[in-house]
Amino acid sequence: MTEALAPTPSPKQRKPDWIRVKAPTSAGFAETKKLMRRLNLATVCEEAACPNIGECWTKKHATVMILGDTCTRACAFCNVKTGMPRPVDPLEPEHVAVAAAELGLEHIVVTSVDRDDLPDGGAGQFVKVIQALRRNTPSTTIEILTPDFRNKADAAVEAIIEAGPDVYNHNLETVPRLYPTIRPGARYYASLRLLEGVKRHDPRIFTKSGVMVGLGEERLEVHQVMDDMRSADIDFLTMGQYLQPTPRHAKVAEFVTPQTFNAYAAIARAKGFLLVAASPLTRSSYHAGDDFQKMRAAREARLAKA
Ligand code: SF4
Repeated sequence: MTEALAPTPSPKQRKPDWIRVKAPTSAGFAETKKLMRRLNLATVCEEAACPNIGECWTKKHATVMILGDTCTRACAFCNVKTGMPRPVDPLEPEHVAVAAAELGLEHIVVTSVDRDDLPDGGAGQFVKVIQALRRNTPSTTIEILTPDFRNKADAAVEAIIEAGPDVYNHNLETVPRLYPTIRPGARYYASLRLLEGVKRHDPRIFTKSGVMVGLGEERLEVHQVMDDMRSADIDFLTMGQYLQPTPRHAKVAEFVTPQTFNAYAAIARAKGFLLVAASPLTRSSYHAGDDFQKMRAAREARLAKA
């Protein structure tokens, strides 16, 4: 973000102190890992090399990644492997429900790889997972974080909404100017339209979207993304620092300071989001259960005022 006049990170992309995290060593971490392997489930926590894995897994909060561990896209920011995915696992929905029960999850986040190879983009598997969770752990609230279902978004979103998730999350990831290099297989306005469509179909479903900063975006471009999200009636904005997973991925253009995150959060709140989470380590699913409760309370408070 040139506007902030931040120093260019060194060639080694050394992280500043505010984003250092401890190596995961707890018993809870080991148990979560063992459960995921036993149930043959992938997690975005591992596949995306999330820096919060030690904290989240210690609390047995894991974000399940359905439809396998191989993505049909190759985004410049993402660590998930690209290739021809394996066939869809018919046991996956029940396994996700078993994981939610064994981890004692009050709130689960389910995401997936992009499956452009499937006629429905994988929407049917999201539906089956939601149904399995409702059957087996009816008190668990469900947040789904979906791909953009390129060229089949309307049908996919309709089917998923029919299954009734509590939160529909889809990340815009970055500002539109950077899409050709950072998210080349996707279209900014298609993603916005997808989120707008969720609210149009069922305004009771909370919508959520996130952006990474530190990819070279300008501050005013981020403000514009916030405005676009509010025009699509998105309830919850998450913002976090982009971290380069491997040297093959896009370089960090800037390590955004915690103060700048606070400034972004203040502007976003003023623009009318029900909830904003913005910090260097914020990720879509970070503290998702607690944030769901806050979002629900914020909506009730707003409705009571109206
Ligand atoms: S922030 Fe989300 S992806 Fe990262 S470890 Fe926590 S649950 Fe997993």
